[in-house]
Amino acid sequence: MFSKIVYKFGGASTATPQRAKAILPILRQADGQVLIVMSAIGKTTNALESIVNAAVMGDIDYAQTQMLQLHRFHTQYASALLGEINTPLQEQLEAYYRYISDYLYKIEHVHVNEAYDQIVCYGELYSTQIFAAFLLQQLESTAWIDARKVIATNSIYRDPEVDEDATRNNINQYIVPAMQTHRWVITQGFIGNTPNGKSVTLGREGSDYTAALMAALLPAASLTIWKDVPALMNADPKRYPDAERIPLIAYSEAIEMAYYGAQVIHPKTIKPLYNNDIPLYIKCFEDVELPGTSVQNISGTTIAYPPIIIHKPNQVLIQATTRNFSFITEYHLSRLYECFYNTHIKITLMQNSAINFVACADPGAHPIEPLIALLEKEYKILINTGVELITVRYPKPEVIDQIAAKGKVLLKQETRKTWQAVIDNTPPNK
Ligand code: ASP
Ligand code: MG
Repeated sequence: MFSKIVYKFGGASTATPQRAKAILPILRQADGQVLIVMSAIGKTTNALESIVNAAVMGDIDYAQTQMLQLHRFHTQYASALLGEINTPLQEQLEAYYRYISDYLYKIEHVHVNEAYDQIVCYGELYSTQIFAAFLLQQLESTAWIDARKVIATNSIYRDPEVDEDATRNNINQYIVPAMQTHRWVITQGFIGNTPNGKSVTLGREGSDYTAALMAALLPAASLTIWKDVPALMNADPKRYPDAERIPLIAYSEAIEMAYYGAQVIHPKTIKPLYNNDIPLYIKCFEDVELPGTSVQNISGTTIAYPPIIIHKPNQVLIQATTRNFSFITEYHLSRLYECFYNTHIKITLMQNSAINFVACADPGAHPIEPLIALLEKEYKILINTGVELITVRYPKPEVIDQIAAKGKVLLKQETRKTWQAVIDNTPPNK
C-alpha cells in the first residue's frame, strides 16, 4: 500500500512551460500517492487583482482587455506544454473566460471583496486544468478536484476562517476516493467555498495553507513545498549574501518566522501540521538533489540556530496619545485593541508609555483610513507609513548593529530570543 503525500507547487515553479516540465520527474520519483496542490501560474494572481481593481473603479473596457490577454496567455501556455491544446481543455478554459467576462460587466452590484474572490480564484482553476491535462498526457491516472468542494469556510471574503470538520468530511468524500483510484490527484491551493456556495480566497500566498490543511486532514505522511530557493534560509540571500541554510527547524521556530514575515512559508501553514505531527519538507524544484529543510516536532533536542533575520515591509507605525493626559491603562488598551480588531488591522509590535500607545500595524489587504478615523475620535494620532518591521531571532550584537544602521529606528523591543525594530528607511525628502 502506497502512503499518501502532498506536494505543493507555487507560481514560480510553473512560470514558463519549460519550468513546469521539470515537475514531471519530481512526480515520477515520488514515493507514494501524490495529492498535488497548485497555485496560479507565475504572476497570474497579480494580473487578476488588477483586473478586479480596474473593473471596480469603473474601467470595464480595460478590465475586459486585460482579461482577454490573460486568457490568451493561458491557452498559449497550454498549447506549448501539451504540444496541442485538446478540445475538452479548450472548452473548459473558454467557459472560465466567459464566466469572468460576464461577471466583470455586473461587478458594480457586488461588494468589492466578494467580487475579488469570485474572480481571483480563477488563477488556480486555470492552472490546475492545464496541469491535469498535461499529467493525463504524460503520466495517466490523474484526477482533478475542485478545491471549492473541499475547503469549507465562513463568509468573510478574502480572509475567511476554515471549518476544519466540514473540510475533513469533504476530504473523505472527494479526495480520499480519488486517491484510491488515481496515483496523482491535482487540486487548487488558495481557494475555498462559503456556506452559500460562493468562492473565497484564503489570503495571498495561501496555497501553502491549503496544502497543510489537506495534509493534516487526509492525513498524509508528509507535505513537501517545492520552491525556487534551495531551502529555508536564516535571511533573504538577496539582502544578506552570506545567508545560510537551516537544515532542520522545529515547528515552534518556523511558526515564529512565518508570523514575523518570512516569505518562504505562509503563516497559517504550521498549525495544522503541528497538530497532526506531519513533517514539512521545503525543497528546491530546480535541483531535487539539494537537501532542503525539514520542519518537524523536535522535542528533547535543542538546535543551535544562527541569527534569523526577517524583514516585513509596508508596515504603518501609529502613535495614539490621550487628549487629556490620562494614563494609557487597561481601559485604553482594550479600547485601542477594539479599534484595530474592528477594522481588521493586525498589530505586529506594541509598546506603551504613560500617555502614548505605539503600535506597528500590518494593513495587509485592508485600508488604514477607517482605523485612523476611529482612533482620532479619542486620541491624538501620529503615523509613519511605509516603514519596515525587522525581527531577529537569536540576535548577535554585530547583526543588530548592521540592521540598526539601515535607517532611522522608530521603535525597538527585545526579549530573550527576539530583537525587533521598526525602521524608517525611506530616503529623506521623499
Ligand atoms: N496564487 C495565490 C497568490 O499568488 C496563492 C499562492 O500563490 O499561494 O497569492
Ligand atoms: Mg501565487
